[in-house]
Amino acid sequence: MERRVRVRFAPSPTGPLHMGGVRTALYNYLFAKKNNGDFILRIEDTDQTRFVPGAENYILEALAWCGFQPDEGPQNPGKYAPYKQSERKHLYKQYADQLLEAGLAYYAFDTPEELNEMRDRLKAAKVASPQYNAITRNSMKNSLTLSEDEVKNRLDNGDPYVIRIKIPRNEEVRFHDEIRGWVVVHSSHLDDKVLFKSDGMPTYHLANIVDDHLMEITHVIRGEEWLPSAPLHILLYRYLGWVETMPKLAHLPLILKPDGNGKLSKRDGDRLGFPVFPLQWEDPENGSISSGYREKGYFPEAFVNSLAFLGWNPGTEQELFKLDELVEAFSLERVGKAGAKYDADKTKWYNQQYLRKKSNQELADLLAPIIEKTGWNTNNIDLLAYVDLMKERAVFVEDMLEGSYFFESPTSYDEKTISKKWKDNSAEIVNKLIEVLNNIQDFTTENIEKDFKAFLEKESLGFGAVLPIFRVFITGLGMGPSMFAICSLLGKEESLKRLNVGLEKMHGK
Ligand code: GLU
Repeated sequence: MERRVRVRFAPSPTGPLHMGGVRTALYNYLFAKKNNGDFILRIEDTDQTRFVPGAENYILEALAWCGFQPDEGPQNPGKYAPYKQSERKHLYKQYADQLLEAGLAYYAFDTPEELNEMRDRLKAAKVASPQYNAITRNSMKNSLTLSEDEVKNRLDNGDPYVIRIKIPRNEEVRFHDEIRGWVVVHSSHLDDKVLFKSDGMPTYHLANIVDDHLMEITHVIRGEEWLPSAPLHILLYRYLGWVETMPKLAHLPLILKPDGNGKLSKRDGDRLGFPVFPLQWEDPENGSISSGYREKGYFPEAFVNSLAFLGWNPGTEQELFKLDELVEAFSLERVGKAGAKYDADKTKWYNQQYLRKKSNQELADLLAPIIEKTGWNTNNIDLLAYVDLMKERAVFVEDMLEGSYFFESPTSYDEKTISKKWKDNSAEIVNKLIEVLNNIQDFTTENIEKDFKAFLEKESLGFGAVLPIFRVFITGLGMGPSMFAICSLLGKEESLKRLNVGLEKMHGK
């Protein structure tokens, strides 16, 4: 029988979720939905020493912001509950015991000092990466070298111990990765990883395998940094007798720095001025703030769309995909092996595209509370018409605030425009322009444009002699959207008033 597709996103709550983590969640979500399966959130918090307050909530909030609703998770447990490893503590010991009984794992009692000594000894003997492995375990304090009585005594005594996997000495471990194809690793490169500790907690490796098995996970989709752990996991499936139902593995490519030189890190974001986290994060230890895409004004759809393309492509020219369209188009076959360079400008481009797709009403609703905070008087301005005018040039909703001059008369004029464009005959031209505008009955964009152009023609003037001064008197700025639209939105009275104020201010200069 075909098994129902079940995938999990399994973050450790050790800090804010990096963009790469969000992409892992996204691909899991897309794969699950595409295959009518389940997307599970599992919190992997076995390493209590790395616990960071607030991190779990951050993860939940980030997934919610992106729109990846888990089908099962700590907040909406299903039949495989609980979904937090610290709450599953009682489940793991029996599997460590099973491995001990089968001789596939062993107790080790070495103290941290003894472990350091071993490493120093091996380093001195020019061993490149000293490890607790098939060779070194024979000279350490463990149940393979100590007598049965001694082991029993130590355990009865309550001596601290760990349970280590017994990696075979000379074997090829092979597995098929859905993205990378066949991967072969020789067991001599693997070490006897700790699976369980005497504090009663499993390590990541054991807990991860046990939970994937118990939760009937069919596909493990995760970051490339876990590829080196995969051979160990393969051995664990084999040792525990779970090969038949072993999930398929897919290791996603790295997200690289913009120049392609190495993995994108938090520091790169700070250095290059873009967030690497979905939401802003305040470090509970030192209060330092890391910026987030949400707080920077990105739409979640734009962030998710751009993230989808970091490692995957649809094989067509189409670039804009809403979440449900991504579900439709997604497949692991189209995920590449090579690292994906992060491009901050492209993410901005996505945001601009999504901004343009929004209706004027949606944008006005988003902008209204922001404007309210500025204290500007919005009574006289049609916000829908305003948004329509401003959105062309905006990447973020806040960019549309550039038109503050709609709500308040300019308090100063762009100096460059004045020094370059204010000529001896400028006052006379503006006076004539005032007359032209005053004569327009129906003060629409089209009428203003028509009469303005006729005026230029009649006076044999170029745009450059009139428009910059016209603009700077009305808006204070050297650039902006169509002056005809601006004036029509401001209305005749306000436009004429500003031109007159401009003349007064420039009088005698
Ligand atoms: N807890 C691991 C992490 O933080 C999960 C790795 C996996 O998906 O197997 O990324």
